[in-house]
Amino acid sequence: MKKDILKLNKCGIYCPQGDFYIDPWKPVDNALITHGHSDHARWGMKKYLCQKDSVEILRTRLGKEINIEGIEYNKSITINGVKVSFHPAGHILGSSQIRVEYNGEVAVVSGDYKIQPDSTCANFELVKCNTFVTESTFALPIYNWDNEEKIFEGINKWWQSNADEGVASIIYGYTLGKSQRILSVLDTSIGPVYTHGAVENINEIYRKQGVKLPKTTLATNLDNKTDFSKSIIVAPSSADGTTWLRKFGDISTAFASGWMQVRGNKRRGNFDKGFVMSDHVDWCGVLDTIKDTGAENIWITHGYSDILSRYLNEKGYNSKVLETLFDDSDI
Ligand SMILES: [Zn+2]
Ligand SMILES: [Zn+2]
Repeated sequence: MKKDILKLNKCGIYCPQGDFYIDPWKPVDNALITHGHSDHARWGMKKYLCQKDSVEILRTRLGKEINIEGIEYNKSITINGVKVSFHPAGHILGSSQIRVEYNGEVAVVSGDYKIQPDSTCANFELVKCNTFVTESTFALPIYNWDNEEKIFEGINKWWQSNADEGVASIIYGYTLGKSQRILSVLDTSIGPVYTHGAVENINEIYRKQGVKLPKTTLATNLDNKTDFSKSIIVAPSSADGTTWLRKFGDISTAFASGWMQVRGNKRRGNFDKGFVMSDHVDWCGVLDTIKDTGAENIWITHGYSDILSRYLNEKGYNSKVLETLFDDSDI
């Protein structure tokens, strides 16, 4: 039997031949990182290798002093005889699927990925392989994303109707990736756009890499003398219910997340509105991608992994669950 190119050990997904890890969760010497979210890019690695747009993101989140190298998409390098390349995952800026090839066997670790186009990052690229490592954050038939134009229209309509009533619109989204995607679709003819500091830090990195975002103003140092009645404010959901919101006067709140597809989550979070906007693949997307990669071995990480694995095994795939420490911090 051929030896697997990748295996799981206590530090994460390991390539024995290349002596490197992909998104390890414990400190190791050589870490290849799919993207900057905290469950994938952790602190304490001797050396980091990621796609070049992720370099600034990792430096900002893990510290300026980390030993890090960036590589272009689709450029192959060889590590101890193993051919390695990074390919767009369509999830956030710099997010990559990592392709590993040795002895004619190809494995792809997709990290987190999204199929729909997104103007804030490179579009997902299908990579053929023998073994495909996929996430399963939203791998249930109930998760079926709407056409994104419809979602964007919904956000702008909600903002417009709040502005008409003189109520400030607060929209919550994860600071890295989701917030920038929200910003990229705003119709700025409605009113001014303000941001929370945690969002603005990431905006700076995105702009530096050439991503077009609308003009934003940091809300941190402003007080209730500012007229926010026609504005939209993009903030992390951790700001919800805090005194930070007081300066905005009358507000309406919304949360943009894949979880909003499930009835009740909006109410539970106490938001006035929920937008089903996800940076992850949905049920049909995950099944189509698995099929299109041509892979016979499917390894499943964070999410509904047991359910997806059982389903795939019934369909004739050789599927197994990887008990990883990836959580859903970025949904
Ligand atoms: Zn992620
Ligand atoms: Zn993740």
